[in-house]
Amino acid sequence: MIDIWCSENICPICNSKMIEESSSNVYCKNKCYAIVGTWGAVDIQVFGKNFLFILREFEDELEDERDILESEKISELVQYWKENERYLIKLMEK
Ligand SMILES: [Zn+2]
Repeated sequence: MIDIWCSENICPICNSKMIEESSSNVYCKNKCYAIVGTWGAVDIQVFGKNFLFILREFEDELEDERDILESEKISELVQYWKENERYLIKLMEK
């Protein structure tokens, strides 16, 4: 189970401690993962690929489904980068 919201402040890909720039901007120093909050939305970035979650006042079933799908996509992508430590190659590119 991947903690896409980084409740422990640990990068889900490389396990580094996340840097908390502000309460709405947390990122990994290796640039693998970032959670950026803006007005009404939260953007999760996995190596620059964006996944957007719209914050809403009233729950809507259809949008919930979209969020679940989005969460699954993030988990899959994180899993992909962790597999055979692929992320290390990505980190060395920089
Ligand atoms: Zn990282």
